[in-house]
Amino acid sequence: MRILFLDQSGKPGGAELSLMDLAQAYRDRCLVALFEDGPFRDRLEQVQIPVTCLAAQGMKVSKDSSWWQSLGSIGGLLSLLKQCLRLSRDYDLLYANTSKALVLGALTSKLSGRPLVYHLRDILSREHFSRSNLRIAVTLANSCASAIIANSQATRDAFIQAGGNAELCHVVYNGFDPAQYKTNAEEVQWLRKELGIPAGQFVIGHFSRLSPWKGQHVLIDAVAQMVPELRSRITVLLVGSALFGEDDYVEQLQQRVEQLGLGERVQFLGFRSDISQLMTACELVVHSSTSPEPFGRVIVEAMLCGTPVVAAQAGGAVELIEPEATGWLAPPGDAVGLSQLLERLLGEPELLEQVALQARGVSRDRFHLHQTQQQVEQLLERCLPL
Ligand code: UDP
Repeated sequence: MRILFLDQSGKPGGAELSLMDLAQAYRDRCLVALFEDGPFRDRLEQVQIPVTCLAAQGMKVSKDSSWWQSLGSIGGLLSLLKQCLRLSRDYDLLYANTSKALVLGALTSKLSGRPLVYHLRDILSREHFSRSNLRIAVTLANSCASAIIANSQATRDAFIQAGGNAELCHVVYNGFDPAQYKTNAEEVQWLRKELGIPAGQFVIGHFSRLSPWKGQHVLIDAVAQMVPELRSRITVLLVGSALFGEDDYVEQLQQRVEQLGLGERVQFLGFRSDISQLMTACELVVHSSTSPEPFGRVIVEAMLCGTPVVAAQAGGAVELIEPEATGWLAPPGDAVGLSQLLERLLGEPELLEQVALQARGVSRDRFHLHQTQQQVEQLLERCLPL
């Protein structure tokens, strides 16, 4: 089976990193077509996954902008469609990895007769999408996709709630290669040293692009509210950058850190590729999205690294963690609640260790890449004409 993967982004967000894991299995018989150039292309090339860029310049990405407009703004929907149609001749199946790719994939599928699979990695709700974009996504998915892969039950539920066809939609969790999350203890020690973290500090990592709904401000506010003796033991690492141009938020975060007197406590590390080492260097990973997370790759990654994790209790995150057994859940956007939980956990190092150990074992089984690849392969096979 030859697959043409379509993805709108040249930047390595969660959807793209997950696609990279999936596409490895089809390296010799697939092509990833990106709608913009960027570092994601380099990442694919590094692992020998064939990639092409359909347009060099970026597209406007906003939950409110119309997809038709933003696709048109990069040289015209027609030009993209023509390229997709030409490429589709050499492939048996189209695989839309993002919502905007669904638009192109659906049109290409109708015109080429190639089956379309849509990997749904968004919570299709008004919180994340405009009314018209929601309607476009659901209508195209229902009418053009042979199968829809939802990355969590929460994602599938939102799709059905928005009018999506339940029979087409199957939940397949993101998969991970546990070997990628094994680190060398010396390397991690060296990293802590390089970051200037004094011995005995309790390091809390937050790994997400910097964006208001990813809730870095909730963690900062929570740390600010801790009792001073505990607060002074904390170092926060904010790992990630404003991938989609939310630079105002970064500025606000930096100002907030200064105003709250946390300049010594918080480090902004920007986008990093050494996620496993950084996660292992942390005593705790906090995920504090204020809106429901479709899946939450960073939660499983922390588990695989053996670092305990606290996540916001919404969306896919709830499916990943069993509270008090494989991690903790905190109400989204509740800095006071998070602060109290952090104070409690700081006093329970044995519990942290025990939960992290349990989470590591469970996540290796539940989210193994081989399993995900197999489930996806079975669905794709069913979409091909007999
Ligand atoms: N990530 C990364 N470098 C960074 C910050 C994040 O490689 O500096 C990765 C992170 O390890 C995870 C992905 O980006 O694999 C984010 O996926 P997630 O599902 O958590 O969020 P999304 O970006 O899809 O909203």
